[in-house]
Amino acid sequence: MENCIFCRIIAGEIPSMRIYEDQDCIATLDIGPAAKGHTLIIPKKHFADVTDNAPEALLGKLMKVAASVGMRQKERLSAAGFNIVQNNGEAAGQTVPHLHIHVIPRYEGGPVMVAWEPTDPGMDALQEVYEILKD
Ligand code: 5GP
Ligand code: ZN
Repeated sequence: MENCIFCRIIAGEIPSMRIYEDQDCIATLDIGPAAKGHTLIIPKKHFADVTDNAPEALLGKLMKVAASVGMRQKERLSAAGFNIVQNNGEAAGQTVPHLHIHVIPRYEGGPVMVAWEPTDPGMDALQEVYEILKD
C-alpha cells in the first residue's frame, strides 16, 4: 500500500535490519526498541490490524515466528523472557496501521512493560460485561 511505512520496508524502499524472512513475513529490529533486541514481525501483505481479515494461516504463522524470535532473544541475548504485544487502533497505541507483532525481550531486573493495575469491579459489574460480550 502506498505511503505505508511497513509496505515500504517490505519493498526495500526503506532499509531495515531483518533477522528473519520467509515468503509471508519479515522479522526486523524495531527502530525505537523498548529493550535490546525488540523485534517486529510484519506480514508482507498489507492488513491494517488483526481485524482486517488476514487469513487464519497467516495469523498463526506470525505467532509462530514471534515465538521463535522470542526464543532467539533468550538464547542469543540472554533475555529472561519476552512479551508479545500487538496493538489495534490508535487508542491502543497503534502508530503504524499495518498489522505487526512486537516481540520485546525482558531482562532480569529490567522493567516489565506490559503491566496494569488490577481493579475490583465486583460481581455485578463483571456480570453486566459478561452479558454484553458472551456469544
Ligand atoms: P505500533 O505503535 O504501531 O504498535 O508500533 C510501531 C512500531 O514501529 C514502533 O515500535 C516504532 O518504533 C516502529 N517503527 C516505526 N517506524 C519504523 C521504521 O521505519 N523502521 C523500523 N524498523 N521500525 C519502525
Ligand atoms: Zn502496509
